Amino acid sequence: MSLRTLTTAVLAACVLVGALALPAGAVAAQRAVGGGPTAARNADPAAGAQSPMALAAAIAGRYWHAVPCQGRVRITTQQAVPAGLEPDSDAWVTFASSGGPNVLAAAPSSYTNCVIGLGRLRWPTTASMRSDWDLLCMTMTHEFGHLLGRVHDEAPASVMAAVFTDYSSEPQACRTTRPRSSRPS
Ligand SMILES: [Zn+2]
Repeated sequence: MSLRTLTTAVLAACVLVGALALPAGAVAAQRAVGGGPTAARNADPAAGAQSPMALAAAIAGRYWHAVPCQGRVRITTQQAVPAGLEPDSDAWVTFASSGGPNVLAAAPSSYTNCVIGLGRLRWPTTASMRSDWDLLCMTMTHEFGHLLGRVHDEAPASVMAAVFTDYSSEPQACRTTRPRSSRPS
């Protein structure tokens, strides 16, 4: 296991306040995940490889022992940071709820239209998701937490910390389960 040093300390993973309008065509990859290990297995064009995004989503579901949004979570990759977020945000979520858009105080069972956005600067390619696996997995777990109604936690080692400054927040399952690569090792 190799942990890359986090040179970019900011992982905003914010809840977007207000309406989100993604430019047409900005969504390079979309798939629905049900939190199961078989979801979205074919995201990587390389035969035999395992989608790091799908694996991270499966780990995140197991971490929380719950699947948000009735299993309907859309994960969008290679996204531009939406207006209203810090420009160095790496990931974010949007959803509708009984309390209005992106209201974490509303009952999580009311969340619909759940979308996790992954920024294109941090993860421009599937290969970058694999090489930056630890942060991807932490981030996915964090965003699943939001979609289950979790708010930010001030404890720096919490997976719900607003900013990750090191890997102390990383769930153990992210460390022990890593995406298979199609490349010979
Ligand atoms: Zn967050």
